[in-house]
Amino acid sequence: MVLTGEQMLVYQIDAQNRICALSENWLDFTNLNGADERCTPAQLIGRPLLSCFDAETACLYQLVIDAVRASGESIVLSIRCDSSSMRRLIRLEVHRLADGRVEFNSRLLWSEHRECMQLLRADNDLSDHHLPICSFCKKIRLDEKWLEVEQVTNQLRLFEAERMPVLISACCPDCSRMVHAAVDRIDVNRP
Ligand SMILES: [Zn+2]
Repeated sequence: MVLTGEQMLVYQIDAQNRICALSENWLDFTNLNGADERCTPAQLIGRPLLSCFDAETACLYQLVIDAVRASGESIVLSIRCDSSSMRRLIRLEVHRLADGRVEFNSRLLWSEHRECMQLLRADNDLSDHHLPICSFCKKIRLDEKWLEVEQVTNQLRLFEAERMPVLISACCPDCSRMVHAAVDRIDVNRP
């Protein structure tokens, strides 16, 4: 396990939830994640933050953003930000700024290497099979259970597969409860 608490990614959204600022290390972070070139800062500025999520995840982020804007209190969530070869736990802090802007600070709490999980690579040949992956904990739903990617890889024998299932944004029940609990803890009546 590698402790790298120094690493911090910061981005901001404007009052219309469009990305309006990104820290300079954005590319380092996204490259670690195997992100493709659609994620360059120039292409992200002005993009609605919630457009890349499924409806339920977007709704949960909107709850967080609304509560932070209304109260001025910050919300902290622990989320996984894995790549194919790394498990990473991120502390995501959401703060209110002036003029309706909201800032997201992501700090890496821990990371550890894993055997490369082909399912999480960005350059796969894809099959017609779709699997929901939780945006917050990166567990994958298989037969109504939410499992780590290693378990899914074993159960579906993906080590032998030429094509990988398509992963689609989702939210698991545990993470939905976690976000609701974080929002419920703050006082939205505070000015
Ligand atoms: Zn989850």
